[in-house]
Amino acid sequence: MTRRKLIAGNWKMNGDLAALAELEGIARAADSAGNVEVAMALPATLIAPAVAATPGLAIGAQDVHPAPRGAHTGCISVAMIAEAGARFSIVGHSERRADNYETDADVKAKATALLAGGLSAILCVGETLEQREAGKAEAVVTGQLTASLPKGAAADWLSIAYEPVWAVGTGRTPTVADIAAMHGAIRATLRTAIGADADAMRLLYGGSVTGDNAAALLAAGDVDGALVGGASLTAAKFVPIIEAAAGLD
Ligand code: PEP
Repeated sequence: MTRRKLIAGNWKMNGDLAALAELEGIARAADSAGNVEVAMALPATLIAPAVAATPGLAIGAQDVHPAPRGAHTGCISVAMIAEAGARFSIVGHSERRADNYETDADVKAKATALLAGGLSAILCVGETLEQREAGKAEAVVTGQLTASLPKGAAADWLSIAYEPVWAVGTGRTPTVADIAAMHGAIRATLRTAIGADADAMRLLYGGSVTGDNAAALLAAGDVDGALVGGASLTAAKFVPIIEAAAGLD
């Protein structure tokens, strides 16, 4: 099964209006990258101006609240990001699981809200270093996936990002073999959960992806793209990752 590669950037709590100039180079690279899909998860304040500046680029959010509205100070709903022009949101990023104590049930509710609102989701799972060293990485990741996978999970709106917590923002990555093994386990878990559509669902790797390691990491078995933090902040660092994906097509 051929799956269209997805390269997604995550600016986290970085960027301002001036930084949107970076999106122009990224959009140009996306245009010439053939069959590679490029998406950018931006701070909520930048979604509408980014959509206006680069209408061809898929712009999204980094998190949403599962409720449609209400007394949730500081949160943002699916309808709000959709109105701003977002096409998707990340859910379950390890920084939100750690900083905001988000559970698998929370992540599932957020993904469910995105589906109901007609938006796509990138659902993150990943083990800590302690869990990997204890030999529990696969059990932890597939357990998170099973518990956070929403009803209605399907390849046309949902992607899974495997992001080992110890690789996010650290400059460390698992071996290509370890990534391929984990993605194989994720694919098998998805087959059990949703059947044949699992083979169409994109599995992204995330954690210290750069222009230097992208080609090797993206060529790993069952890797259909990347979720990129630090190296997505500038066109100079992100474009080589898009080009690496295009080169594997
Ligand atoms: C991320 O934020 O999802 C991420 C993978 O970050 P980095 O690429 O900086 O490790």
